Amino acid sequence: MENEKKFDLTKVQEADVEKKYILTEEAKAASKFGKLVFAFPQEDNEIVAEGDPADYVVHPQAYFRGARQIPGSEFNSSFQIFVKPFFLDRVQHRHPKDEYLIFLGASFPNVFDFDAHIEFTLGKGEEAETFVIDKPTIIRVPAMTYHCPLNFKEVNKPVMFMAACMMPMFGGIYDLPNGETMEMYYNGPLPCKYNENKKCDSCGKCLTEKWEK
Ligand SMILES: [Zn+2]
Repeated sequence: MENEKKFDLTKVQEADVEKKYILTEEAKAASKFGKLVFAFPQEDNEIVAEGDPADYVVHPQAYFRGARQIPGSEFNSSFQIFVKPFFLDRVQHRHPKDEYLIFLGASFPNVFDFDAHIEFTLGKGEEAETFVIDKPTIIRVPAMTYHCPLNFKEVNKPVMFMAACMMPMFGGIYDLPNGETMEMYYNGPLPCKYNENKKCDSCGKCLTEKWEK
């Protein structure tokens, strides 16, 4: 209790810092912590199942692509506003690390203004359970836990959806019909970090970079 009084938070204090940066590449290179600060590029979701319209989600969207954007990051996330029903994730899979799925109302500013019916399955086979999401909700998917499908069945008000995975790059493990498993990684529809002329093929080279250097 005594500790509460050690800082006088009623007084506004400007940071007493000489160096101030606006996010340019030069400023990031000149600063010590600049690599930890990242401005979202505008992205358009390129993953739409065949024949489905792309207008279920507001364009553009923001995605944090993990270590390719902030070196050393162990986190990636989507930030999408869904405005129409859409069967988003149709194939069951697992991730090597935890994933969190976050559903909030996007009739800003009140994130509790929510009117949608979303169904999500956790587990596989006999232990599988489907959950109805009809209010602001967060779901933890523990590492190596089977999950999906994820179906936005009714979207009467915009829904903000974030799929946040505790990995440096988005990736999952899929069971193939022939009994084998396949690991798939995806780093967005972005150019290679090292070669602007080439699309990122999730080779993983950028995951080895450190933010300090
Ligand atoms: Zn997943």
